[in-house]
Amino acid sequence: MRIAGTVGDSIVDGPGLRFAVFVQGCSHHCPGCQNPHTHDPAGGHEVDPESLFSMLDDPLLDGLTLSGGEPLEQPEACTELARAARERGLNVWVYTGYTFETLLDQADPARLELLRSADVLVDGPFLLEERSLDVPWRGSRNQRLLDLPQSLERGCAVLWVDPRVDRLAQFTPPDT
Ligand code: SF4
Repeated sequence: MRIAGTVGDSIVDGPGLRFAVFVQGCSHHCPGCQNPHTHDPAGGHEVDPESLFSMLDDPLLDGLTLSGGEPLEQPEACTELARAARERGLNVWVYTGYTFETLLDQADPARLELLRSADVLVDGPFLLEERSLDVPWRGSRNQRLLDLPQSLERGCAVLWVDPRVDRLAQFTPPDT
């Protein structure tokens, strides 16, 4: 697997504390991309996905984030990591410049397997004209947070609902 790097304690690539892997290589070349050094598929360095498994054993972690670069361009290795994270009880977020609909249309078995091995897909290219600081965990307003199990089951994009926000909405304060 070719990666640009990792961050062991990210708090900006999804909810909670996360192990983030920045995959090397991206063919989207979104104007204004924050990580242009990750575009060259020959850049970064090679790692064996198994060599990263031990990083997932940190008991403080909430999840694994696969970002880039374009994780869907190295789907087999990313699936290995995603499965290892889930075996440890971690949730898995995947960032991609593709839309969910495009990935469904492509019907690439390895890419679909990665989607099946993850919980949330942050989809769509970064669009400079849609750039915003008001959309958590994303760079531009067109990008969506998708509930992958639900989206795959229904065959259409289903937005992810943050369970912490859901719990707050259902909270009824006790009578005083
Ligand atoms: S998909 Fe992500 S990494 Fe690739 S060019 Fe777009 S913003 Fe950059």
